[in-house]
Amino acid sequence: MPAAAQSQATPENAPYAPFKIGEGLYYVGAADYASYLLTTKAGLIVIDGGDQATGRQVVANIRRLGFDPSAVKVLVNTHQHFDHAAGLAELKSAAPGARLYVSAADAPIVEAGGKGDPYLKGPAYEYAPTKVDVILKDQQTVSLGGVTLTANITPGHTKGCTTWTFPVTVAGKVRQALVHCSSSVLPGYRLVAPETYPGMAADYEKSHRFWLNAPCEVFLASHARFIDLDRKKKALDAGKLDAFVDPAGCKAYYQASYKSFRSALEKQQAAAR
Ligand SMILES: [Zn+2]
Repeated sequence: MPAAAQSQATPENAPYAPFKIGEGLYYVGAADYASYLLTTKAGLIVIDGGDQATGRQVVANIRRLGFDPSAVKVLVNTHQHFDHAAGLAELKSAAPGARLYVSAADAPIVEAGGKGDPYLKGPAYEYAPTKVDVILKDQQTVSLGGVTLTANITPGHTKGCTTWTFPVTVAGKVRQALVHCSSSVLPGYRLVAPETYPGMAADYEKSHRFWLNAPCEVFLASHARFIDLDRKKKALDAGKLDAFVDPAGCKAYYQASYKSFRSALEKQQAAAR
């Protein structure tokens, strides 16, 4: 049975009015569980499904924006945790022609409905299993109707965590968009032996090197709170058309995130001595 927690209303999956971020790019997620829509001349692309309740909202939001959810051809995911992957099943049933692309390390867990995660165990984290159609390698691209997304595998938070990058036109200028997977070190994660999964700390280290140097002008993420979405949406509504163009905010976020990873690691190393 899917977790009861996922059908419950929470502040994270509260409905949020969909809106345009750039040319052919829309926010269609919930208050915190993020989801993005890309429109192309060959159909629609959706990044992340949120939890189950969010998944239903994403379908409704696509319709509310005037698009047909059954035109979704490509579904991609940042990572296999329920708050980003449970809603994929809702999207697949609304768009039977959609193909789901997931990284090699996260795909088996999506296909098992959240079972097999090394840390989040139990019914609260499980969801409807969803078939993965294409397994992604690092730097693999996914293209539809002239839009190309790059899958940057940035492991740590999950073994197959994927940060997506793609160009998008905002306020008349082509910008590099980045959808951050997650760099959070969950409270019980072990970064020293025995690690939550073998190689976890080294994976975080490697991913932070990517993030600290990644082209990131339009800073997006799997959680709205990572990017201060509310504040940017208010600025957008007040007429700042490039409110989501925030390379400095992206850099600052990654610098702070790296610092907090290092301090968690050092604390655990000290405790293990
Ligand atoms: Zn997560």
